[in-house]
Amino acid sequence: MSYNFTIQKTTTPKPKPDPNTLKFGKTFSDHMFIMEYETGKGWHDGRIVPYGPLSLDPAASVFHYGQEMFEGMKAYRTKAGRVQLFRPYMNAERTRKTNERMCMPDIDPELFVSAIKALVDLERDWIPKKEGTSLYIRPFIIADDAFLGVQAANHYKFIIILSPVGPYYDIPGGGMAPTKIFVEDEFVRAAIGGAGFAKVGGNYGAALKAQARAADHGCAQVLWLDAVERSYVEEIGTSNAFFMIDDEVITAPLTGTILPGVTRASVIELLKKWGVKISERRLRIGDVVKAAEEGKLKEIFASGTAAVISPVGELKFKDSSLTIGDGGVGALAERLYNALYGIQTGTIEDDMGWTVEV
Ligand SMILES: *Cc1c(COP(=O)(O)O)cnc(C)c1O
Repeated sequence: MSYNFTIQKTTTPKPKPDPNTLKFGKTFSDHMFIMEYETGKGWHDGRIVPYGPLSLDPAASVFHYGQEMFEGMKAYRTKAGRVQLFRPYMNAERTRKTNERMCMPDIDPELFVSAIKALVDLERDWIPKKEGTSLYIRPFIIADDAFLGVQAANHYKFIIILSPVGPYYDIPGGGMAPTKIFVEDEFVRAAIGGAGFAKVGGNYGAALKAQARAADHGCAQVLWLDAVERSYVEEIGTSNAFFMIDDEVITAPLTGTILPGVTRASVIELLKKWGVKISERRLRIGDVVKAAEEGKLKEIFASGTAAVISPVGELKFKDSSLTIGDGGVGALAERLYNALYGIQTGTIEDDMGWTVEV
């Protein structure tokens, strides 16, 4: 099935931002996509309109009970000038699982991807040309019934906005910088049976407190531990976490508390292809510390759309501080970053079939 959307173009296009000073998520393109849902009628009235404020009833359920979800992905411009998305059907499938968990309506992956393609196509000039830049895509769905009862809504809006973004690391000439991470042993992100696997706003609002505590300790992010024993490593901030001990790479299994990252899945597939031992299994923070003391902890890195791969140089746990490897960028993190970023931006041939041209 192919989808068509009406397009209402802005009469006041904005100047494009200076690609040298782009910050994450502060500048937005000229247009946005909006589509409505109503029980009995389904998704309808998909349209592209000038970017601008929404008008919502103050009783809209999203404001009170947080019935909403979001996604995050990027459009990249290749050297040859092509525009491509990275595995957008994985975001579409993740959206379906999130919506199911949140009692929100299902959405056809073709509709989801068609809407993104239509908006990115119209806004292709908003994809910056400088090395390391891209166009961040933020699809989200909000419940907008004007009703204060706690129940699943009957009306929703699916919206997509676009934001040109600069390189994640502010390093002249590109490359990665190792981060300091705080092991969070008081607050938790998600429990089994909760909504940790879903990209829903409440998970992130509730995590700000831990992020502030990490910042107080001079750290960029937190390493989350499991909610039951505060013992098993889970995620790093809003990224998935990988630990290389001897020649085994370990990441937390998808048991419901972990967000199933598109980058995580891609890292696992690449490691398998390269013949690197990769295990999805539980790992105790105590075993990470022990491996570090024995000189076996080679690397820790995080994976996610924003930074692609983010190496960890130091872990702060209780009163101690662990240096990971030599404290610099690990060889595997670097190899993964180059492979993923190369495929995303077309400098490496996509033999995995991951990119979708707009
Ligand atoms: C979005 C997100 C990730 C990374 O997912 P990607 O699809 O790789 O961007 C990991 N963990 C959390 C908690 C997230 O919200």
